[in-house]
Amino acid sequence: MKRISCKVASVSPILDDIFNVELQPQESQSFVAGQYLQIVMAEDDKRPFSLASSPEQSDVLELHIGAPEGNPYARQVIDKLKKSGEVEVEMPFGNAGFDEASQRPILIMVGGTGFSYAKSIIEHLVDTEQDREIYLYWGGRNLGGLYLHELAYQWEELDQVKFVPVLEQAMPQWTGKKGLVHEAVLEDFPDMSGLEVYIAGRFEMADVARTAFTKQGLPIEQLHGDAYEFI
Ligand SMILES: Cc1cc2nc3c(=O)[nH]c(=O)nc-3n(C[C@H](O)[C@H](O)[C@H](O)COP(=O)(O)OP(=O)(O)OC[C@H]3O[C@@H](n4cnc5c(N)ncnc54)[C@H](O)[C@@H]3O)c2cc1C
Repeated sequence: MKRISCKVASVSPILDDIFNVELQPQESQSFVAGQYLQIVMAEDDKRPFSLASSPEQSDVLELHIGAPEGNPYARQVIDKLKKSGEVEVEMPFGNAGFDEASQRPILIMVGGTGFSYAKSIIEHLVDTEQDREIYLYWGGRNLGGLYLHELAYQWEELDQVKFVPVLEQAMPQWTGKKGLVHEAVLEDFPDMSGLEVYIAGRFEMADVARTAFTKQGLPIEQLHGDAYEFI
């Protein structure tokens, strides 16, 4: 892990209270797709965010930060980034990065801004031309919560990616999956034993998914998620 100083290249809203942040490190940084960094707010206050960019694009570190009014933890980070042209970060962190050794089909299940984790892994696979089978399940309260769904649909054109959006509060004309994202995965994969599963999102989601997925045959060593270091 290293501490590095980064120039804040941009902080721009993607949608409502979700921000795309681009940081330019002094020098290119190496990390594993799906790892995270910590923004140093103070010596005893470092806040984790998943890297949304792939290791192959490490000149710019991209983050997606959900910072609604009621979330001062993330809001303070956005305010700091907007005010200061430079920020200190520590990286890389996390044991849930992409496992290059496994050849199993990949299932990435994310909720909300957990999408940044999926983006890093999928863009890494594309950048390194790995023709792997990828199932991306992205859960949100509504379509607005799936703030880059157009990008996810574009990945489907690569053939190797199947994107399944799952909405908790779907509009009447929605014909896709409804409910909680892990429920959609359970319905589609009655036997999960042959999958390599990557998870990012709320801790509660990671927790219920671990219990349900292992009951449905997923060996625990084939389940990856940073949440499991915290819960
Ligand atoms: C290592 C680490 C990295 C992080 N990286 C980021 C980051 O890059 N950006 C960021 O903004 N925050 C990050 N966080 C903070 C936190 O994890 C996110 O705020 C959170 O995942 C985002 O949830 P959301 O509000 O977007 O999802 P929500 O909108 O609350 O939920 C989205 C979907 O998740 C599922 N879900 C939610 N709750 C449950 C539940 N109780 N049971 C079952 N399913 C559920 C549902 O399908 C729901 O539709 C990080 C935290 C850690 C520890």
